[in-house]
Amino acid sequence: MSEDRNIARVTATAAVHAGRTVTNPTPPIDLSATYYLPGVDAGGESYEALVAGGAPTAEGGLVYQRMWNPTTAGFERALAELEGLPEAVSFASGMAAITACLLAATATKAADGKRHIIALRPIYGGTDGLLTKGTLGTEVTWVDGPADIAAALAARPDTALVVVETPANPTAQLLDLDAVAEACGDVPYLVDSTFATPVLQQPARHGATLVVHSATKYLGGHCDVLGGVVATTPEWAARLRDIRVQTGGLLHPIAGYLLHRGLQTLPLRVKRSSETAQTVAEWLVAHPAVERVYYPGLPGGDPDGLIGPDKQMLLPGAMLAFSMRGGYDAAAAVAENVRLILHAASLGGAESLITHPASLSHRHVAPNARPDAGLLRFSVGLEDAEDLVGDLEAAFTKI
Ligand SMILES: *Cc1c(COP(=O)(O)O)cnc(C)c1O
Repeated sequence: MSEDRNIARVTATAAVHAGRTVTNPTPPIDLSATYYLPGVDAGGESYEALVAGGAPTAEGGLVYQRMWNPTTAGFERALAELEGLPEAVSFASGMAAITACLLAATATKAADGKRHIIALRPIYGGTDGLLTKGTLGTEVTWVDGPADIAAALAARPDTALVVVETPANPTAQLLDLDAVAEACGDVPYLVDSTFATPVLQQPARHGATLVVHSATKYLGGHCDVLGGVVATTPEWAARLRDIRVQTGGLLHPIAGYLLHRGLQTLPLRVKRSSETAQTVAEWLVAHPAVERVYYPGLPGGDPDGLIGPDKQMLLPGAMLAFSMRGGYDAAAAVAENVRLILHAASLGGAESLITHPASLSHRHVAPNARPDAGLLRFSVGLEDAEDLVGDLEAAFTKI
């Protein structure tokens, strides 16, 4: 997909106007569960088009909310535009989106019986669990880096999909997507791009077929909506819509409205919080209670040289992690004594959030792949850097 490398970076202007028209700048919220059918044949034809993963026909109408909703379709158009891919399909949550991708890759006619997945660790705990348990009938081979993908593929010609995440949860470790693309060859690969957003990284530039977001995080940006979305090709979008119709994991129209609205401020929020994260990370590095700081913007944090205006990642992002010298007790003391920063799951909101991955999001990950007990993950929000540093400093005195 070399032509994909010409995809333009997301500009502030594109984010404000994506999926909107001059005559319809604020999309209406359509809450209809069902729609008038103008005729038996016309309705049947639209139904047929929708269950095949297509768009409704003009004559037959929208039929039923599980099949099509104009408000969520507006968000999908906007996200596809920002990712530089032709289509996007939204879901009730990030996990519903990942589930649909795994089903589309392994449980459809196009899968041709292939059920094997290659996945790279580290990865979000929920994705790790879904693949490890094999709940969807998939089988997984875990690898540690792009260099291991080719050998894993050679061993398993029945591989349907390669699954990666960058920056990866929880340590914001970066992965070279060009190296992944090269190792994958003709096998499609999925990137969970939640931490980056299309503002920092557009995986389609690097040949990714499926670009997944937990829209709950930065796309919504205010910790008040759950959603997931997959940007992809028309062929995969049809498969994903077919699965959405069958399994029902659809995005609610109000969530679709909020997510579409969230995209307008996405570049501003992401760039500002990335700047603040750099300041916080540098302060943490200098603190004697901190053993190690994981942040791609620090010296040594980007060993493959992936950050820069013409590189994979525009900026290092707003997610960081740090290990406390005092291990579990010190990490727990910090999480429980911050006052401005919220000790809570999730990330990507206006408010800064801190979590202890080993006891929360990565609790069920295999011990050899679980983050260490002294590690804290910090989602840097939109507060002023000096207030965040002050809050951490006060919490550190309670260790
Ligand atoms: C939160 C998250 C998910 C899951 O998304 P939900 O919206 O909570 O279902 C998947 N991947 C990453 C990287 C996440 O941070």
